[in-house]
Amino acid sequence: GTAQIGVTGLAVMGRNLARNFARNGYTVALHNRTASRTHDLVEQFGSEGSFVATETAEEFVAALERPRRLIIMVKAGDPTDAVIDEFAPLLEPGDVIIDGGNAHYADTRRREAKLREQGIHFVGTGISGGEEGALNGPSIMPGGSDESYESLGPMLEKISAKAADGSPCCTHIGGDGAGHFVKMVHNGIEYADMQLIAEAYDLLRHAAGYEPAKIAEIFRGWNTGRLDSYLIEITAEVLAHVDAATGKPFVDVVLDQAEQKGTGRWTVQIALDLGVPVSGIAEAVFARSLSGHADLRAVGAGLTGPSPADVGPLDAADAERFAAQVEQALYASKVVSYTQGFHQMQAAGAEYGWALDLGAIAGIWRGGCIIRAAFLDRITAAYAKDAALPSLLADEQFAAEIGAAQDAWRAVVSTAARLGVPVPGFSTALAYYDALRAPRLPAALTQGQRDFFGAHTYRRVDREGSFHTLWSRDRSEERS
Ligand code: NDP
Repeated sequence: GTAQIGVTGLAVMGRNLARNFARNGYTVALHNRTASRTHDLVEQFGSEGSFVATETAEEFVAALERPRRLIIMVKAGDPTDAVIDEFAPLLEPGDVIIDGGNAHYADTRRREAKLREQGIHFVGTGISGGEEGALNGPSIMPGGSDESYESLGPMLEKISAKAADGSPCCTHIGGDGAGHFVKMVHNGIEYADMQLIAEAYDLLRHAAGYEPAKIAEIFRGWNTGRLDSYLIEITAEVLAHVDAATGKPFVDVVLDQAEQKGTGRWTVQIALDLGVPVSGIAEAVFARSLSGHADLRAVGAGLTGPSPADVGPLDAADAERFAAQVEQALYASKVVSYTQGFHQMQAAGAEYGWALDLGAIAGIWRGGCIIRAAFLDRITAAYAKDAALPSLLADEQFAAEIGAAQDAWRAVVSTAARLGVPVPGFSTALAYYDALRAPRLPAALTQGQRDFFGAHTYRRVDREGSFHTLWSRDRSEERS
């Protein structure tokens, strides 16, 4: 075979990825269950580079140069297993199968272990940036063996997005499912970012009393500062958009029920298993699900809100001051949700033996993906200073920034509570921050209750060991 890479699964993502490889000078073998997609691609885009169209699995495998490298870009789940089962018998030790779909990392671990027995490298790869990214440069998060990255890395780096400093948005993440894990956390962080931005908008609309066009302007301003990011940029675009049919702000004619595909939910489910508090991501997932419960919201519409005396709209000067405070609250809450997401990756690295380079991971999110932002440079810098940073909040600069923002952050959360504007993201981030700061937590009381009703025992601040109080007898304490 002559093709350096093959792509099977030629829907939007696979097609664009294949074109991206071809445009970068690689010969690309093409395959799809339904052959018409393969031929359509060659017909429409054949002039962009060198393609080898194939119809059967055998032809596809034969078209690949050895060691073979083939990317599966099919619907995640059972179809991925079906395609692996079809190709694996045709491959040889040393060949590399790349799964670029949105697989669950546990599936990737299972597939990797099975194919490893056959000597085949299985590289679960997170690919971010949607169809646009796939074509022009995505952020790429490959897992799998070190050996597989040696042959695959240079190609993936070549087709990946490039950060402002020119470095590729692709790095070897770690063994087996590490790539898909990190892609999942990326998506979880994306949920949290979007929720925080939505809350900022809601406050500017309903506490400051601004119209969407004015809020768009404010977001454009924020986008020139420390919040500079793709999501802030597109938020301004969406808010400035006017519905052609009604002449109303677009955001007012869209049904306010958010949907989700599942990676945010996975992030939270797995965080629960790992025992990592990712409250910002969890609130973002819950906020979407709450928005979809029309029945509950119909009940809620009849519930009492703040008393009118408390609800007076802010005057112009106060509104302007408030908007500046919202920027601070948004930034501080964003730092907290990244802190939580990075904690989750750190915990998974320890659990699964992945040597995750958290600074490099922040680095490859600077281009191609949805959460790309100037801010990520700061995370890379924090880990460059101290690779073993226990938490992003342990970084002096982040700590100082949040310290400076906290008065505004508290003012925003309390104003929101007073006016009855829901800000689950802002408030959970603040609660996390304050809980970490607290010299004593009421967890001591929780332990006392657990010992009372279930003899679950507790540890003491002044002595080693576990203890139990004889609550239903003389309340003396025994060592257990
Ligand atoms: P889809 O998820 O819509 O999947 C369609 C492709 O899967 C078609 O090529 C289809 O073949 C193939 N397929 C489905 N079932 C089978 C099967 N049993 N056996 C063989 N082939 C099968 O395509 P997308 O391009 O949207 O996404 C591909 C992958 O990339 C998914 O895992 C997705 O989660 C992931 N992804 C998508 C992103 C996006 O923005 N869309 C972003 C990042 C990742 P046929 O033509 O014969 O029906």
